[in-house]
Amino acid sequence: MRDLISLQCDQCKRKNYMGSRNKKQSTEKYSFKKFCSSCRSHTLHKEAKV
Ligand SMILES: [Zn+2]
Repeated sequence: MRDLISLQCDQCKRKNYMGSRNKKQSTEKYSFKKFCSSCRSHTLHKEAKV
């Protein structure tokens, strides 16, 4: 079973990435450093619901 998630920029709260994750593999919320086109820099992206 996979969960649809989006990755939301922690600074501008914009949802930049969509994806899915395996529930079994990760039970905790995770965060990534990804490029945000709105902030024009790498920012922390947190998991959010689609
Ligand atoms: Zn941003």
